[in-house]
Amino acid sequence: MRVAVIGAGFGGLSAACHLTGRGHDVVVVEREEVPGGRAGLVEEAGYRLDPGPTVLTMVGLLEETFRAAGADLVDHLRLRPVDPMYRACFPDGSVLHVRHGREAMAAEIAAFAGPREAAAFHRFCRWLQELYELELPHFIARNYDSPFDLVRDPAALFRLVRLGALRKLAPTVESYFADPRLQRIFSFQAMYAGLSPFEALAIYCVITYMDTVEGVFFPDGGIHEVGRGLMQAAEKAGASFTFGQPVERITRNADGSVRGVKLVGGEHVDADAVVCNVDLPVAYRQLLGLEPPLVSRRGHYSPSCVVWLAGVRGALPPDAAHHNIHFGTTWREAFDALLRDGQRMPDPSILVTCAAASDPSLAPAGGTTLFALEPAPNLDGHVDWEKERAHLRDELAGRVGSLGYPVDDVVVERLTDPRDWEAQGLERGTPFALAHRFLQTGPFRPANTDRRIPGLVFSGMGTVPGVGIPMVLISGRLAADRIDEWALRRTR
Ligand SMILES: Cc1cc2nc3c(=O)[nH]c(=O)nc-3n(C[C@H](O)[C@H](O)[C@H](O)COP(=O)(O)OP(=O)(O)OC[C@H]3O[C@@H](n4cnc5c(N)ncnc54)[C@H](O)[C@@H]3O)c2cc1C
Repeated sequence: MRVAVIGAGFGGLSAACHLTGRGHDVVVVEREEVPGGRAGLVEEAGYRLDPGPTVLTMVGLLEETFRAAGADLVDHLRLRPVDPMYRACFPDGSVLHVRHGREAMAAEIAAFAGPREAAAFHRFCRWLQELYELELPHFIARNYDSPFDLVRDPAALFRLVRLGALRKLAPTVESYFADPRLQRIFSFQAMYAGLSPFEALAIYCVITYMDTVEGVFFPDGGIHEVGRGLMQAAEKAGASFTFGQPVERITRNADGSVRGVKLVGGEHVDADAVVCNVDLPVAYRQLLGLEPPLVSRRGHYSPSCVVWLAGVRGALPPDAAHHNIHFGTTWREAFDALLRDGQRMPDPSILVTCAAASDPSLAPAGGTTLFALEPAPNLDGHVDWEKERAHLRDELAGRVGSLGYPVDDVVVERLTDPRDWEAQGLERGTPFALAHRFLQTGPFRPANTDRRIPGLVFSGMGTVPGVGIPMVLISGRLAADRIDEWALRRTR
């Protein structure tokens, strides 16, 4: 079947890999000049900067995506483990290196917080592993046709309850670790799902599994290379790519089914099916002229973030790691400010990523790269970003500088706030889509199909299973499964 994929984000690229591998004739139409979507590239004055995702986990899913296109990851990407995976700096001055590998991490915890906490770490990992092995096939990597699908396998649901996955995440982590610093390091990942650890269910500990157990990796050349590699794999398998071509409309036949896509330049690309990787609510309004599903309109969106990206002259402090989390003094109050009150965190925890620490080729000699991310309210919050913008850059750069990173000689820089994310076509100015509240997840998340539009399938963070690189790679596979179902229906 001829399939048009709109958008070469990781969701669209994954769909392209799976679809070409299954023998479909795939054309990917992308508005930007490069693949990767959020994982784009800022290349200037000898610096190569990743403006989007920085923490790459679940390499097995990436390998699967390459394999789907008949390719081998190692022919396209050189991935190296990031170790330590994070340097966690606490307000009391203590530092924990989150190490690659369970034994190394247990030794680190033993030295940091004592042998009881190290033993707890082993127990926690065993629990995480069991949780992940249950959740991935039964609840995450699958398509849903209705909420009843959740109870199709009562044994799996029963095991989920028995594992305590429907309890709250923070008390679950606290039941393993007495040290509040360890509680933070094993629960902050709830933020990746757009939730406070105090509000999230323990099912979202699967995200902690993804980095803590599976490990964090980094490709030579930066995260952008992942998108480039996937594109090359799909191209080799027969997909074609068109860049710099925004789609204006998804066109439909008289019976409502898709006919193809109309480009802004006027050209029409005929297709039997369309995979739409554009942020789902935006796609409904702009490409279909329809209201998005109720949950997209009324739901709670994840917080957004402010990112200060810089190529600088100077050296990193000797203790800097690739990923550095600098925790603020407050914890629960910070989540309340962000998620309940829609305000910036009063003393924010920030992530400072120094990719050139792993790959010096990302900066010219004598220079390095900095990426500083502060969680921030999305545009449903109560921040006047116009006013905030005036001092945002100096505030963030100043904080980064005060932590010892070189910020006095900036050569290249970009500041992105929620209004910029909105301008990139992201609903409510957040690059993290609908939050993963229980009633916005699985069968309750916007579906990847719409009964009114046969032949249209969504991929990416706005649909199932959700946000983050591992999830959108899965979304591409789920989209390909839907296309196969559609192909089968058309032949009947
Ligand atoms: C600052 C930041 C940090 C992050 N950190 C992490 C992290 O550390 N780890 C992690 O796993 N995830 C992280 N994420 C989340 C992750 O990047 C996203 O969940 C994922 O990349 C989204 O992929 P996607 O395919 O759904 O969407 P996108 O990447 O947004 O892709 C959508 C594509 O559609 C294209 N498009 C849009 N409209 C049109 C149109 N009309 N015509 C043609 N093309 C169009 C866009 O140009 C884009 O290429 C981060 C995101 C950001 C922004």
